[in-house]
Amino acid sequence: MNCEFCGGKTFKKKVRKVHWLDQRLYIVDDVEAEVCAECGERYYHATTLDAIDRTLRAGRQVIKQELQVQVVAMPA
Ligand SMILES: [Zn+2]
Repeated sequence: MNCEFCGGKTFKKKVRKVHWLDQRLYIVDDVEAEVCAECGERYYHATTLDAIDRTLRAGRQVIKQELQVQVVAMPA
């Protein structure tokens, strides 16, 4: 496909995705995406996003690591 932002060609790649579900934040590895070769924009198929939600809701995910995350603000 072509990138909606810059018109560049996209290619299939497995990526690490930041994913929110039910107010919880997950980092999901090996997610299939289309990545723009020019600007790096990522596109996910709706079926891929649904599959992530289903896997997480069913508790079928393999937990590789648990992280503590800081939420910070930029100084004024
Ligand atoms: Zn692009």
